[in-house]
Amino acid sequence: MAEAIKPGTDNKTGSWRARKPIVDEEKCVGCGACERNCPDGTIRVGINKKAKVDYDYCKGCGICANECPVKAIRMEDEK
Ligand code: SF4
Ligand code: SF4
Repeated sequence: MAEAIKPGTDNKTGSWRARKPIVDEEKCVGCGACERNCPDGTIRVGINKKAKVDYDYCKGCGICANECPVKAIRMEDEK
């Protein structure tokens, strides 16, 4: 029998991800380049001026890591 879809979790596109972006807060200068270039709007610069990823919806495309001018984002394989 097919597994039932859990209410409220079926739109969480983060489950598609093969790699995840990790922000190094020591390096992040809060420039917002990642936020402006993320196609899904899943990385935002917070009030602490550090970028934060919403892993429920980030698809792991790696654009944020490519666009970061100070290389503060690295892509890691999902376990
Ligand atoms: S990996 Fe892609 S989807 Fe995830 S935060 Fe970076 S740009 Fe957005
Ligand atoms: S692009 Fe890099 S330095 Fe700029 S806010 Fe994003 S993680 Fe921080």
